[in-house]
Amino acid sequence: MVSTIPDAVRRAARSPDLAILIDLDGTLIPFATPPLAARLDVGAAQLVRSLTRCRRTQIVIVSGRPKPELDALFPDPDGPWLVAEHGGWRRRLGSWTGLDLGEATPHGAEERLREVCAAHPGATIERKTWSVALHYRNVPDSDREGTYVDALLALDGWLRTWKEYELLEGRLVIEVRHRSANKGTTLPWLRSAVPPGTSVIAIGDDLSDEDTFAALGSDDVAIAVGPDERPTRAPARLAGVEACRSFLAWLIGVRSDDAVGDPVAMSGLHPVATHVEAPLLVVSNRLPMDDDGLRARDRPVGGLASGVSASLRRRRGMWLGWSGRTHEGARALAVDEVTGRAGFDLSRQEHALYYNGFANRSLWPVLHGFIGRARFRDAEWTAYVEVNERFADHAMELTPRDGVVWAHDFHLLLLARALRDRGHTGRKGLFLHVPFPALDAFETVPHAEQLLAGMLAFDLLGFHTERHAANFARAASGLLGATETIRGIVHAGRLTRVGVFPLGIDADEFRVRPEDELDPEMIELRAAMGDLKLVLGVDRLDYTKGIPERIDTFARMFELVPEWRGKASLLQIAVPSRADVPEYKAQRQAIENAVGRVNGELGEAHWAPVRYVSRSYDRPSLAQLYRAARVGLVTPLRDGMNLVAKEYVAAQDPEDPGALVLSRFAGAAEELREALLTNPYDRGATARTIARALGMPREERIARHQALLAAVQRSSPASWCEAFLEALTSGRWAP
Ligand code: UDP
Repeated sequence: MVSTIPDAVRRAARSPDLAILIDLDGTLIPFATPPLAARLDVGAAQLVRSLTRCRRTQIVIVSGRPKPELDALFPDPDGPWLVAEHGGWRRRLGSWTGLDLGEATPHGAEERLREVCAAHPGATIERKTWSVALHYRNVPDSDREGTYVDALLALDGWLRTWKEYELLEGRLVIEVRHRSANKGTTLPWLRSAVPPGTSVIAIGDDLSDEDTFAALGSDDVAIAVGPDERPTRAPARLAGVEACRSFLAWLIGVRSDDAVGDPVAMSGLHPVATHVEAPLLVVSNRLPMDDDGLRARDRPVGGLASGVSASLRRRRGMWLGWSGRTHEGARALAVDEVTGRAGFDLSRQEHALYYNGFANRSLWPVLHGFIGRARFRDAEWTAYVEVNERFADHAMELTPRDGVVWAHDFHLLLLARALRDRGHTGRKGLFLHVPFPALDAFETVPHAEQLLAGMLAFDLLGFHTERHAANFARAASGLLGATETIRGIVHAGRLTRVGVFPLGIDADEFRVRPEDELDPEMIELRAAMGDLKLVLGVDRLDYTKGIPERIDTFARMFELVPEWRGKASLLQIAVPSRADVPEYKAQRQAIENAVGRVNGELGEAHWAPVRYVSRSYDRPSLAQLYRAARVGLVTPLRDGMNLVAKEYVAAQDPEDPGALVLSRFAGAAEELREALLTNPYDRGATARTIARALGMPREERIARHQALLAAVQRSSPASWCEAFLEALTSGRWAP
């Protein structure tokens, strides 16, 4: 196929002075199995010779190999300039100069890798000045995963001590390298030796070449070599060594004195897709529904659903979930190609046992640390296992064996295990939207070990916070004897990566503009509030949100700081959820009792300390409510993230913002450090914090709000989704 050469490549190729940086193995020459060939093949040697002769053109071979090997391949001192050991050594006009890294040596890493090598026939060690690599290309297929994992385990402690070294994972090679000896350092060295204004074309196939690409200037061009299987900074891609050689031949034509126009039609140069287009299947307990907000209660909802949907559309993926209907009998999967959604019904019994039972009455309380509220029934566990298997059966109908699967939340902890049992080999990721508790809490689940092993059957586990990820790692090592490494958790000879991906909101959607029309209910609320300062709580009705506790704490404030009596009111919105679970009915009762008690005890004819609304609002109305509130009171007893806290910040007037009181036990507290953080179990201290927020001077509110808004704007549902998918689809270049 004859390709169109991108303009940027054409421009760079024709610039008066040009430097061509080219990786060796996998780019100019095919990967060789050790012992490495001591001579270039004729084709490569000829290309290099011709490039060296081109006028105002400097060719530089940028390799990870040690310098003696490069010297052997390029003995001519007038030949190409050479970079060895990923930038550690450079040869120009026949003489080598090295980076000055003092006494640094990866000797300890080498010793550890030699032991791994001894245990895995076929593995070889390559030692260089500032790096050491273990190649497992020649290890039999069945032992490659084991070799990789053993290398990771062997290096882990060493890498934690020697922080100036990093781990690099290439194709069937794992390498420990000094951070300063990377290919990006080639560029400053090159620029100091070539005429000013020289353009650079950098070509490479390896992850290490991304360092070169990152260091390029705006007139330079990067070209990735190899199959379209990993994200790259390069805007163009050559399919392999052959395509690369054809491109070099084209370049030689362009740089030759007699070249007119494009001398050779070249093949195989393609623009790089900005995203890896792996077929993707998203799986969640419930399919997302448009516009029903929290009434449906199941996540993912709202911003998350739209962020994930956009990524799905780009990848032409599908979303699999429970339809929301219960049925006896009808169990087939209904696939809607247009919306990309595939749903199935649950039987009434499955719904009662799996969803209302094990998911909502066993896992939910334990994962939030409420072990006293959890109850365990064998029949519910069995239903949970079976429904996970049904999800896996349906997933296999929708995705190729090597497709990417992204599961959401605690309903599907066993999905990856079930998929593996059905022969699925593609990447599998799970994002947990709820917290992961301390080991002492998690081990109370009768099936804790099976659940953990199920989670470790995923390739990537995502959490909202460092704390949840660390809790998981501790549970996995405590209960399963799994080992935590710098790359994730190793168990049963496999590695599961663990990442922290805090979910964000679309801050713009909560920005209230002066021209926005006020909701009639807001007009009434404002009239009713008069000069009263509004303190606002917005939650789904759930015992984890601590709503009755919050109402009591608010009342406590009037005892501790009486000057606020008659001057502030709490508006508590509680959106009904899980109405068919008894704990939730009781919770509703508890809230109503607390409201009645506080208003009865403290209220006056003209002042109700607490107003309570049991319904849900749409986004524009919520934004107006947030904006009207002087204090956002977000005090869950435990929460995975809590988006309300972020939405409250986004909706504030930057000139006169309200103050956010935030529970330390909400995931959002890890990012929103400038909120007034509080322990909701300490009612006295929280009451004083609310009073402090009510009286906070404007300058302090502005300063805190600026920092909070910056934190909120750092992420969005779309960026969250892309970060997770990139971690899931790129990862290690595995066998
Ligand atoms: N929400 C809503 N209408 C309401 C109350 C809440 O749409 O009347 C939305 C709110 O904007 C937020 C979500 O519900 O995006 C609640 O998410 P959060 O992370 O705070 O709690 P969760 O319910 O997931 O535990």
